[in-house]
Order: sequence, then C-alpha cells, then structure tokens
Amino acid sequence: MDRVRVIGAGLAGCEAAWQLLQRGLAVELREQKPARRTPAQTSDRLAELVCSNSLRSANPENAVGLLKEELSHCGSLLLRCAHETRVPAGDALAVDRERFAAAIEGALLAHPALTLVRGEVTALPADDVPTIVATGPLTGDALAAELARLCGSERLAFFDAIAPIVEADSVLVAEAPDAPPGAAFFLSRWGKGLGSDYLNCPLDKEQYLAFLAALREADRAVEHVEDAHYFEGCLPIEVMAERGDDTLRFGPLKPVGLDDPRTGRWPYAVVQLRKEDVHGTAYNLVGCQTRLMQGAQRAVFGLVPALATARFLRFGAIHRNTYLDAPAVLDDRNALRGRPTLFFAGQITGVEGYVESIASGLLTALVVADGLAGRALEVPPATTALGGLWRHARGTQRAHGNDAYVPSNVTWAMIPPVDEDPLAPGQKRKKLGKGEKRARLVARARRDLDAWWRAR
Ligand SMILES: Cc1cc2nc3c(=O)[nH]c(=O)nc-3n(C[C@H](O)[C@H](O)[C@H](O)COP(=O)(O)OP(=O)(O)OC[C@H]3O[C@@H](n4cnc5c(N)ncnc54)[C@H](O)[C@@H]3O)c2cc1C
Repeated sequence: MDRVRVIGAGLAGCEAAWQLLQRGLAVELREQKPARRTPAQTSDRLAELVCSNSLRSANPENAVGLLKEELSHCGSLLLRCAHETRVPAGDALAVDRERFAAAIEGALLAHPALTLVRGEVTALPADDVPTIVATGPLTGDALAAELARLCGSERLAFFDAIAPIVEADSVLVAEAPDAPPGAAFFLSRWGKGLGSDYLNCPLDKEQYLAFLAALREADRAVEHVEDAHYFEGCLPIEVMAERGDDTLRFGPLKPVGLDDPRTGRWPYAVVQLRKEDVHGTAYNLVGCQTRLMQGAQRAVFGLVPALATARFLRFGAIHRNTYLDAPAVLDDRNALRGRPTLFFAGQITGVEGYVESIASGLLTALVVADGLAGRALEVPPATTALGGLWRHARGTQRAHGNDAYVPSNVTWAMIPPVDEDPLAPGQKRKKLGKGEKRARLVARARRDLDAWWRAR
C-alpha cells in the first residue's frame, strides 16, 4: 500500500487525509497539537475552526455556496460533518465547532490505514514519500524558515483580525422586561432562516456617530504591525471606520432588510450578532474583527446600547497569515518546483477561508492520488468553483503577470463569465441580467463538475 504523509491536521490536512484514505492509500498524519498550539487555537481536536463557526453562505448563487455544493458532490468529509453538526444561521452554514471537530476526528481515527503522529514538525522531510504540507496560516517559525530557505524567496507575513464573542445573556434583548429602547431584536436579514438566528443591536444616527468617533480614537494593539496590510474581506472595523462616515453603515453594520419590530423601519445602523453554538449561549459580533486593546473593545462596543453590559468571552485580535507565492514556487500540481513529492494545500497556498482550505486539501489529495496511480493530471474545469480556485494558485487572477500574488476567497471573478461561451454559427449575443447570468453560471458549473466527476 502506497503511503502519503500529511503535515498539519487542520481543515485542508484532514480533508486531504480522508480523500487519500478513500483511494486506498495509507496516510501518516502529523499534527503538532497538543504539544504545541498556535495563538489562535484553543482545542486539541483535529480540524479546529479557529475563529467564526460559520462556513459562510450555503446558497449556490454565492461563489462560496457553490464551492460547498461542489465539495459535497466530490465526497468531502468536512462538508458532510458540517451538515451533520449545523446550527441555525439564516442561509449560512454554521456549525457547532466542538461537534464538527469531534465528528471529523472520529471518522479519521476510526480508519485503519491512518496513523496519527503527534508533535511539531520542524523540518521538511528529506525522503521521497509524497508529502502534503498543510500547516496553515500560522505555520511555526522553524518550518516557515525552512520553507523560506527552500523556496528561495522570503515567506510573506500578512495580518488579519478576528471578531469578539460575547455571552448571550449579557446582551440586552427587546423581549426582556425593562428592556431599554436600544435593546437587540431577533431577525435574520430579509426574514431568511429562522427568526432567532441573529440578534440585531440597533444604533440611531447619534449613537452611530459616537460609536464611530470612539472607534477612530481607541487604542490599538501591537504598534509594530501598524504597516500590516489586511484582506479586504477581513479589515479591522477601526480601519474601515477611517475610510469614511458611511463605510460601516454600508458594510458590516448595514441595516438593510432588518425591520425593527418596534418601529417597523430599518435602524440607522445595526451591529449583528450571530449564534456561536447550538444552544445560543454566545454570540459573535459579525464583521467586527478588531485589533483594539481589550479595554478599548469593551468601551467602544459598550456604546452600542444593546451591548452596554456585554461580557466578552473572547476579544477581537490580530493574527498572522503565512502563505507562499504559489504561482512562483508551486507547479501545476501544487508541488514545490524542483521537489515533485512535496505538495502544499490549504491557506499556505494563498487560498483564504475555511471552505477554500477544505477545497484545496481535497483537490491536492486527488492530484497526489492520481499521480501515484499513474493517471494524468485532471483538475476540475475552470467553469467550476473548484476549478477557479485551483487556478487562482496558478496566478490566473492577476491582471498582469508581475502583479503581487494576493490570497483570496473564492469569488465569481475566478470563473469565466457565461458571455464567453462560444456562439453557434449565426447566433447573436444576448445581454443577460445579473440574476440570469448567475443562474447560468451555476447551471454550467453543475453540469461541468458532474461531467468531470463522472469521467474520473
Ligand atoms: C486567527 C484566524 C482566524 C481566522 N478566521 C477565519 C474565519 O472566521 N473564517 C474563515 O473562513 N477563515 C478564517 N481564517 C482563515 C483560514 O480559513 C483558517 O485559518 C483555516 O483554518 C485554514 O485552513 P488550513 O487547513 O490551511 O490551516 P489550519 O486549519 O490552521 O491547519 C493547520 C494545522 O497544522 C498544524 N501545524 C501547524 N504547524 C505545524 C507543524 N510545524 N507541525 C505539525 N503541525 C503543524 C496546526 O496545529 C493546525 O492543526 C482565520 C485564520 C486565522 C489565523
């Protein structure tokens, strides 16, 4: 039985290990926990979700929703476990993180061809055993330094910020007796999902402007990353606040589709809270990732009337993100150029997000398994979310060949527009509306993925 080594039992590593096992390969899975944890980790489980418990939209009309559907189509273990441990969150796929990790760990450890080896890996293997490195955005210094040496380029440090979590019973809720006027109300945007999925903390104009002013003036942590650049989708709230008075109101604090039951109108702005666990004991402040000092977080978020007495279970924080310049250092199979048995998967390849990391793990495992079986490289068509994401690491999203490689979530921009489909002789191009375009993109992706999958 051929053996494959997977370093890092996070999201990409666990999915990769499972896919390899399903193809009759023996897997040696290496994980540093419990001997060592990254600053973001709080559990010793495999496949830990380090921040939000949401895998984002489950609607296939969103690129990440389509990606999830495709992963399920291809037999993803992690998607199966996510559905089994789902908690209500409107049209998002959110999970009970403890049950999610336990389900994945249970499935992997029950497989007779899996060997789990605990302990930090500090050097890349010198042998020729096919190895997938999936050590994630917080790869330890020793391994990262070796990677930088091996790749011949500087590893890139990049910073992100995470959102605070508060205890549910410390939020002032409208249904409570003596609730103040600014108390939070339950409602999913546009009434989607269950009414109790989200708690909305309204702000009137005066309160919003006071909140904004406090955000701009508040103390920030870690001066030495003042120059850090962030993913646009994960900007600290205080950085967004500097961009203009309305940036938050049109961004994470947008009130659209949230009728306050007391007024029948949308508030001026809304801080949305999303359930962290199935019992609803804790809430995540959606889109409020921050690097403010902890005292400042308490003070600033305390200006939101519904959060005046909030108890913080976790404060927002900044974090590092290590990734390779994939188009430059990886070949078309995600192997390091010049080291054909050393593969990479997950966030370290410059995909961004839980679902994208799972997808990268699944595809890299298929590529490795195909190689061992003597099959030619056959990645999913470019017209699918999986195919678009795979090509992102080849640099296809860069407008110019020498643009910097920027990590990315899956987006529709990774998939060729439907307008580019070839025309039949004599056929005229028809201008499509956004809804129809999206529907055609989804239909084409489904058809092409299914054909690719059946042909395998
Ligand atoms: C703090 C933080 C918050 C994030 N929040 C979100 C979010 O809310 N939503 C989202 O979609 N994405 C988020 N991300 C981005 C990203 O999607 C996740 O980090 C995701 O877990 C990446 O998957 P991965 O498999 O590549 O890495 P990970 O899931 O981090 O897995 C890497 C694994 O490798 C292990 N490991 C690391 N180094 C070694 C070593 N030397 N030897 C042995 N084992 C090692 C780690 O312990 C870990 O188990 C966040 C990232 C960070 C850092």
